[in-house]
Amino acid sequence: MDEKEPPSAAHESVVVAKRWLSNRVFELALVKPAGFDFLPGQKVKVYIAGMAREYTIVSGPGEEYLALCIRHLAEGKVSSRLAALQLGDIVAFSAAYGFFLHRPGRSVFVATGTGVAPYVAFARAGIRDFTLLHGVAAVSELYYRHLFLTTAGVYIGCLAPVDEAASVEGDIFAGRVTDYLRQELVPGQYTFYLCGNGEMVGDAMKIIDNRFDGSRVFTESFFDNDDR
Ligand SMILES: Cc1cc2nc3c(=O)[nH]c(=O)nc-3n(C[C@H](O)[C@H](O)[C@H](O)COP(=O)(O)OP(=O)(O)OC[C@H]3O[C@@H](n4cnc5c(N)ncnc54)[C@H](O)[C@@H]3O)c2cc1C
Repeated sequence: MDEKEPPSAAHESVVVAKRWLSNRVFELALVKPAGFDFLPGQKVKVYIAGMAREYTIVSGPGEEYLALCIRHLAEGKVSSRLAALQLGDIVAFSAAYGFFLHRPGRSVFVATGTGVAPYVAFARAGIRDFTLLHGVAAVSELYYRHLFLTTAGVYIGCLAPVDEAASVEGDIFAGRVTDYLRQELVPGQYTFYLCGNGEMVGDAMKIIDNRFDGSRVFTESFFDNDDR
């Protein structure tokens, strides 16, 4: 399993379920090929119409199906094709690979948007007592909230813009995940996991350097803002 040279389209599987989690994000379930092994936090490359994109596996290793959580980008060349798939369609994908894996320690999981995907896999694999900060733009985008309310030690939905957050209560913070790290998380030594928007990953690294001395950090960037 090599991080730099993802494997080829080794598998083809049937779509068995497509469930919308919000207006823009859906979970796609595929038949898990016999002998398909993966570790929670790993990803696959999906091949469609001559293009390839990476998606993190969100199912647990013991589950019957292989699930991916995908944001449908209106102009997205691959995600729009995946969003149009019907039950029974065939999808080609690689073996699982990658090193964004859970390690022992006092875990703080930080995500923007679909960057929450590896933490879904961790929770479904039985990992507990973590702190999770999930940055989104609206309460309706806090997909997997029910899973995390029963598995996380601390679960905070971080809402920016702030206006909507002002009208909700409980496990919601009005601001970005980076604001929460800067203002709210008790200083200490943690094992941080940062996943999602590359700009958030860079900003969070600087805050961790300044505020959480001696902590470990693992990162996975889904895209950089200058990609847009
Ligand atoms: C290691 C890794 C794991 C990934 N895992 C996931 C995953 O689990 N779920 C998922 O939805 N995506 C994930 N992605 C992003 C995914 O690979 C594609 O880049 C994404 O689906 C857009 O592809 P597209 O062809 O639809 O858009 P394109 O036509 O390639 O371009 C759309 C543009 O939108 C931006 N963009 C890319 N991804 C996102 C996003 N998730 N949210 C907002 N803007 C984005 C980028 O700036 C990109 O240039 C992952 C990326 C990496 C590198």
